[in-house]
Amino acid sequence: MGISQKSDPRRIAVLGATGSIGQSGLDVIAASHGRLTAAVLTAHRQTAKLAELAGRFRPEVLVVTDPDADRTPLADLAKTTRIFYGPEGLDEAVSSPEVDIVLAAIVGGAGLRGSWRALEAGKTLALANKESLVLAGSLLCGLARKTGGRILPVDSEHSAIWQALASCRPAEAPYGPGMPGSGEQIRRLILTASGGPFRNRPLAELERVTVAEALAHPTWKMGKKITIDSATMMNKAFEIIEARWLFGLPPEKIDVMIHPQSIIHSMVEFIDGAVVAQLGTPDMRLPIQLALNGMERLPGPAAPLDWSMTRTLELIPPDEGRFPAISLGRRVARDGGSAGAVVNAANEVAVAAFLAGKIPFCRITGICQSILDHHQFEQEPSLERLFELDRQARMEAQAWISD
Ligand code: NDP
Repeated sequence: MGISQKSDPRRIAVLGATGSIGQSGLDVIAASHGRLTAAVLTAHRQTAKLAELAGRFRPEVLVVTDPDADRTPLADLAKTTRIFYGPEGLDEAVSSPEVDIVLAAIVGGAGLRGSWRALEAGKTLALANKESLVLAGSLLCGLARKTGGRILPVDSEHSAIWQALASCRPAEAPYGPGMPGSGEQIRRLILTASGGPFRNRPLAELERVTVAEALAHPTWKMGKKITIDSATMMNKAFEIIEARWLFGLPPEKIDVMIHPQSIIHSMVEFIDGAVVAQLGTPDMRLPIQLALNGMERLPGPAAPLDWSMTRTLELIPPDEGRFPAISLGRRVARDGGSAGAVVNAANEVAVAAFLAGKIPFCRITGICQSILDHHQFEQEPSLERLFELDRQARMEAQAWISD
């Protein structure tokens, strides 16, 4: 379908509208010439920002997931807009027939609830919240298979792989969790990683790096939690797990390469030796747009690459001794079961403690490792059990931090 033959607008629920991905998603909606509309916006605490966004995008429903957030900024909107307070507000908003696609952009394990409800209702889930798959990849993929819900990648690396995979099967083929077929044409996926701000920092200095240094990502502008995850490479660990579930490949077929320029967003090597990569500026609006438009190519707000300048694109195998999170990610991807929930919970607590100045940067991965090592592994936990294990792991991580 051409750009001028606009179909009915696709109605998007933007979960985490006040965050970095949420804002990029709203930029994409604003630039879509009415092809996309914001039907639902959610925030956790930033109600003044949510009110401002609601004034611009006129959604039918707002959800404020923290029931104790300041409600005053939304008082006037309550006359014209349905407003839910509390996390359970997500359930109705996401599964409403007024929603076509759910952009899951809440940060952390808190994002799982919206992802789950979206797939349960058979919706298309444009997934930025990788923690959903880290926590409950097996259950979410099973749910999507049952309801016909689809998971489309928003994470730039997984979007790049999705695009590269279109070279070995029709681009318009239905996409869902797991590869159609067994993925036998694929030799490996290669996730690229910028290496973060400490790629070349002597290991002994990591004890003393400041929060401001860790938040100064060299190429991407993102929310605080994922920026710290990028510095520790826990983000890449989570992406290995995410790829394992999205593409149904074993972790041995998922490699990582350091690519400091963040222009190559990831690659697929096929069994004939061909390597297909996707390149572009580091701008999340491109993968978001692709997911919201079901892989259709349209003009959008992301700036194209500047081809007038000479560039060097480096690809460097990672030093896994420097970044132990990578092997941790492979281990969790291989084990599945309860491992992801436990590591994710420990990581959230450790990152928050680092940001609050309570632990040094170099302890974050160690705490995740220790919690995983002490955890009684369960192969097939239910969703309720995963939430319980998440709570327990958070308490244990707090105890490690207080020690
Ligand atoms: P931000 O911190 O910028 O935004 C987080 C959003 O989640 C905000 O809208 C926030 O609301 C909301 N939120 C926070 N806590 C809760 C909670 N307990 N319950 C419900 N909502 C909550 O994060 P990012 O946009 O950077 O990241 C969002 C997700 O996307 C993460 O999973 C991240 O890994 C992933 N991602 C991000 C990328 C990026 O470029 N930023 C790239 C690829 C993936 P409020 O503002 O009101 O507190």
